[in-house]
Amino acid sequence: MKRENSLYINDTIVALATASGVGAIAVIRLSGKEAITIADSVFKPHSGKSLLEAPSHTVHLGTLESKDQVIDECLATIFKGTKSYTGEPVVEFSCHGSNYIVEEVIKLCLAKGARLADAGEFTKRAFLNGKLALNQAEAVADLIASDSKASHQVALQQMRGGFTSEIEGLRQELLNFTSLIELELDFSEEDVEFADRTQFKTLLSTIKTIVLSLLQSFSVGNVLKNGIPVAIVGKPNAGKSTLLNALLNEERAIVSDIAGTTRDTIEETLHIGGIAFRFIDTAGIRDTQDQIEAIGVQKAKEKIEKASIVLYLFDVKDSSAQEIISFVKENYREGTKFVLLHNKTDLSTESNITPFDNEILQSLQGYTDTLLRISAKEGNNILALKDFLSHYAQSLNNTGKATIITNIRHYEALHNTLQSIERIEQGIQLQLSGDLLAIDIREALYHLGSITGTVSNDEVLGNIFSRFCIGK
Ligand code: GDP
Repeated sequence: MKRENSLYINDTIVALATASGVGAIAVIRLSGKEAITIADSVFKPHSGKSLLEAPSHTVHLGTLESKDQVIDECLATIFKGTKSYTGEPVVEFSCHGSNYIVEEVIKLCLAKGARLADAGEFTKRAFLNGKLALNQAEAVADLIASDSKASHQVALQQMRGGFTSEIEGLRQELLNFTSLIELELDFSEEDVEFADRTQFKTLLSTIKTIVLSLLQSFSVGNVLKNGIPVAIVGKPNAGKSTLLNALLNEERAIVSDIAGTTRDTIEETLHIGGIAFRFIDTAGIRDTQDQIEAIGVQKAKEKIEKASIVLYLFDVKDSSAQEIISFVKENYREGTKFVLLHNKTDLSTESNITPFDNEILQSLQGYTDTLLRISAKEGNNILALKDFLSHYAQSLNNTGKATIITNIRHYEALHNTLQSIERIEQGIQLQLSGDLLAIDIREALYHLGSITGTVSNDEVLGNIFSRFCIGK
């Protein structure tokens, strides 16, 4: 399906597709109606045959030449017709990775009529030529940016289709109903109902269920993409900075004996079991009169609010069971995992869970069931903590949901769809006339369509594709 927005698609574009700088190979990509013609005018295959005659999806060894001056010996891969990434003729020159060669080849293509590609323009063309839905195109950028197994998997699943067909299917069904309801408007004098309201309600409730489940998957999707935020909290001197260092295996946070030295928050990313965790060290939580420290304490509370996992560290010398219990109960939030860490166990002779630990666990039933005895300083049980984090993250990942959304634009569009659907439901309840219902249905269709790009505008597209690098 070719999309309408194809004003400048007649141009042939060129750009370096690999990272700039010296490398073994540099790939220069040409895409557009004239791609093969332009390539043919600068590239001489060793076979002596013209690229114009060569079949699609073939690779040719030859020389890139400018006015009989050989620039490089390289490979040219050609894609003819619409069977290419962009959905139009494409040539990729795999040259030797020298900045000079790249510049000369691009200049040569420009001289033959190509123009420099904008950021993301190859992918934008793939979208405009109907090769990718908009959300799939966005996933291409996520895939390039992915730096952990989890973010890679989510992006790959989306790029290969993800929830595209599901959304498009729902939109199509909704569209069918709109047509029927709009048909009723033509017969408004005659009080007919072409659109079966019971079937319509069932469809709305199906859409609502799917949209809600996608919305819920956002929190999981977002943490898998950006890293799971973990807040490390506890009173001053509980050992938070020492724990962060132990987790990261290096001295990055400042460790000191003076209570209240970690005033600001420090964030470090660590990959455990293919999942990124963002560890947030915070100023000690306690009531304080000190102005600067008060800001730090406030920040700690904010970090807890943003965290998916809270590591609450305590030192038995310095905390009563009651204090710990009250802290967890006060700061508990549904959906956030609280992990109690009994620190400095190297100073104790006990190696198993103590009555103190048991008392806390008993009182916090329903809030948390996880308590680990660690020594941040000696590194005891840090591996067990990492293991726990990794398993917990896996359990988030295995929510049984086939599709996960990670993109805030999709989240907003789904949220708007949900609101429109709820208004339609109310409208049916209130027996509103078809023309009024049609307004909300059109809105729901618009929001659903904006996810996959069935409806789009230049501003939205510009916003999305400008975030890509040039050459993608
Ligand atoms: P924070 O204020 O919570 O960040 O605490 P720090 O990490 O700065 O630690 C405060 C003090 O407790 C430092 O002297 C650490 O060396 C010490 N400490 C931290 N963890 C342990 C531990 O597991 N065992 C012992 N014995 N001391 C620790």
